[in-house]
Amino acid sequence: MRLLCLEGLTKRFSLQDLPALDNLSLQAGPGEIIALLGPSGSGKTTVLRLIAGFEKPDTGVVEIGGEIMANHKVFVPPEVRGVGMVFQEYALFPHLTVEDNIAFGLQQPDPLTRTQRVTGMLETVGLGPFARRYPHELSGGQQQRVALARALAPRPSVLLLDEPFSNLDTDLMAQMHQEVYTILRELGTTALFVTHDQEEAFMIADRVGILNQGRLEQFGGPEEIYHRPATRFVARFVGKADFLPGRVTAEGIETEVGYLPNTPKFPTGTRVEVMIRPDHIELIPDPMGSGMVLSRQFRGQDYLVAVQLPSGATIHSHQPSTLTFYPGHRAKVIARPTHVVAFLATKPWL
Ligand code: ATP
Repeated sequence: MRLLCLEGLTKRFSLQDLPALDNLSLQAGPGEIIALLGPSGSGKTTVLRLIAGFEKPDTGVVEIGGEIMANHKVFVPPEVRGVGMVFQEYALFPHLTVEDNIAFGLQQPDPLTRTQRVTGMLETVGLGPFARRYPHELSGGQQQRVALARALAPRPSVLLLDEPFSNLDTDLMAQMHQEVYTILRELGTTALFVTHDQEEAFMIADRVGILNQGRLEQFGGPEEIYHRPATRFVARFVGKADFLPGRVTAEGIETEVGYLPNTPKFPTGTRVEVMIRPDHIELIPDPMGSGMVLSRQFRGQDYLVAVQLPSGATIHSHQPSTLTFYPGHRAKVIARPTHVVAFLATKPWL
């Protein structure tokens, strides 16, 4: 069953510019957590605003819980869509206490029900002892929990979160990822959140949508997006990726780092570019090796080593911190991809 369904959404803010969103379709099931990932200006916030009802689509349909919220004839106003929102800046009311912030959006006329709902939410987000405090008396993480509780208190059918973690420092961010994930799962809330951060999207979401210039380039599970990127843009956006020229032969795809299985099943003779991630490149110290180390970048848990191949192409490899490679060293370069991702070649010199 699908709880949220976006079908063919297009939104153009001005006739001169490219559309902010171009024919976007995606669905979310009940309780599913979806991340929208993409560079600045790719249309992520516009998707949220169309779902919330802050914008009207030019074409396409927004459906929530089987009911049409927007199409070429219908436009349901934001306040009756049953959608909750958490903003990057939290947007808490500074003159209201934590409990009054949480109670703000509740419609229940019965004070007892309202109080019970607020108490329940305070408990869910672990802020019971802070109920009477004002936002300025809270830490960043606590403020975010209030924003989450306020958005969840009316029990929205869909929760939208716009870069909810970007104001937090690294430690707190990791803690809040876990907390928000646990709360959403506990309540079974369907959620769609926007982020620039690929790790964050992969950690929290059941499915991830990658946006590029208003188009959804791929929508799938985190592993699928990382290991089977549908386009070069996705491959590069969700992790380091090098592309090596290759030619399909009867023995497999011939590349500078050896033959790779032609599992994409291109016809013999096809010129391709094979995507290689640094995890899949092994380096063996060898003075006669074909690769020359160009640089090494310390990243804490490992090094990212750049190696130049005889053609001039550069390839990267993750190497343990016990590394013995320095710029100028030579190495044998072996590709050991767990699976092969290749695209038709675009460069004329291939
Ligand atoms: P960021 O990560 O920087 O927040 P985003 O992916 O959320 O970016 P959007 O805010 O959805 O991107 O914007 C998509 C495009 O639409 C951008 O080119 C932006 O300039 C344009 N845009 C967004 N809102 C408006 C508006 N109200 N009027 C005109 N153009 C707009």
